[in-house]
Amino acid sequence: MPVFEYAPAPESRAIANLKDHYKPFVDGEFVDGSGEPLKTINPATEEVLAEVGTASKSDVDTAVKAARKAYNGAWSKMPGTERAKYLFRIARLIQERSRELAVLESLDNGKPIKESRDSDIPTAAAHFFYHAGWADKLEYAGYGANPRPLGVAGQIIPWNFPLLMLAWKIAPALATGNTVVLKPAETTPLTALVFAEICQQAELPPGVVNILPGAGDIGASIVEHAGIDKIAFTGSTEVGKAIQRQVAGTPKKLTLELGGKAANIVFEDAPLDQAIEGIVNGIFFNQGHVCCAGSRLLVQESIAEEVLEKLRYRVSTLRVGDPLDKNTDVGAINSAEQLAKIRGLVESGDAEGAQRWTSPCPVPERGFFFAPTVFANVHQSMRIAREEIFGPVLSVLTFRTPDEAVAKANNTPYGLSAGIWTEKGSRILWMANQLRAGVVWANTFNRFDPAAPFGGYQESGFGREGGRTGLEAYLSV
Ligand code: NAP
Ligand code: MG
Repeated sequence: MPVFEYAPAPESRAIANLKDHYKPFVDGEFVDGSGEPLKTINPATEEVLAEVGTASKSDVDTAVKAARKAYNGAWSKMPGTERAKYLFRIARLIQERSRELAVLESLDNGKPIKESRDSDIPTAAAHFFYHAGWADKLEYAGYGANPRPLGVAGQIIPWNFPLLMLAWKIAPALATGNTVVLKPAETTPLTALVFAEICQQAELPPGVVNILPGAGDIGASIVEHAGIDKIAFTGSTEVGKAIQRQVAGTPKKLTLELGGKAANIVFEDAPLDQAIEGIVNGIFFNQGHVCCAGSRLLVQESIAEEVLEKLRYRVSTLRVGDPLDKNTDVGAINSAEQLAKIRGLVESGDAEGAQRWTSPCPVPERGFFFAPTVFANVHQSMRIAREEIFGPVLSVLTFRTPDEAVAKANNTPYGLSAGIWTEKGSRILWMANQLRAGVVWANTFNRFDPAAPFGGYQESGFGREGGRTGLEAYLSV
């Protein structure tokens, strides 16, 4: 196999304007949270990046009251044309500060700069642009003559796409006239706090957006606060279930975007080289820390050997290493905890008799890294076929007929996404109808657009984010 030598091409970390200390954002100001400060680290080096002030339960109360005041004040009564201007300003400011945000995201999260730069940050800006366009058109969106906002939204997001998940949450909430109290994940709070600066720059009225860094207990305090009208959560199925129990019996509205174990299904008539790129993108994008990752590859038996051979060749060319290097394909695993979880599941794959192949690529000694891994001979009963690994690990299963492919694809408690690779349009439509997944991609994978609703079936959650459908979660109709 040809090995290409690349000179290092690191992006300068100075662009991130990293500060020593970051603070919670409440009522338009950065405040000293009364929680225990946390230290956020760079998972690629394990060095501390910054100290971050966190919220306590009483700060949650202050933030919810500020959000209520802002809601009852000008915000919920403002004409949509005026609200839209704030969203447009925020979108443009994200674009203006996109290099800074991309480098900061890669430092805090470990994702490759080419992804934060070309995917996370531009898509976050796109969400604000898109929802700005809806703010003055809600009466025509099919929700009746006078759709009303709900009030104060409590929003809790994970660490895998920190700024992008914030945008998915905040943009529709503001476009529909709600105010927000948001908790970023403990390991990735930094871009959310730069977003708070952007809210100040955009002269967003104080209290419309409040950002409270902290651990899971602060998330739970937001969920249980009586002043919250709606909870939007993205994260694990386990925490999602706990939140659903907490909210049961209250008038709070709830949407949950949870885990997944998506099938990426390749038929023998598929354009194979294109499919290989889609498989690689499906599972190795963002180190596999993707809820809709194509983590179960279902290949038609007749082409299984050929696909595996092509796949191993292609995966062995992926470059694992410094997230700030523009040549890096696979960056760092976000935390020691997540790395341990991946290792544990991979060991279970070995123990249950799957055939493991690991890319021979060099892997840095410091930091949390995991070489891209492909398991063949995977059976449906194995843990690596059933549980979400949330890492750069692909499980390969085979099938013979379309019916068998559907049965295997649907044999999961999840149902977030799926992929189909075939030359036949009629088969794509038939399969898409059979698959119980919120998003089905055909001859592509991991495509995101603010106009396309995203969400799950079963244990992947309920409610949709994005598009016209996504607005409904923030409206009383
Ligand atoms: P997680 O443990 O559920 O954490 C998600 C968020 O909830 C974090 O901010 C976390 O705070 C907070 N949290 C923890 N315990 C809580 C509680 N009892 N009440 C309220 N909030 C609480 O999930 P994760 O491991 O960080 O994220 C990975 C998961 O997210 C995966 O399962 C993935 O599939 C899913 N995900 C889904 C989507 C989707 O759209 N469907 C998108 C991305 C990720 P801490 O950070 O302090 O723990
Ligand atoms: Mg970090």
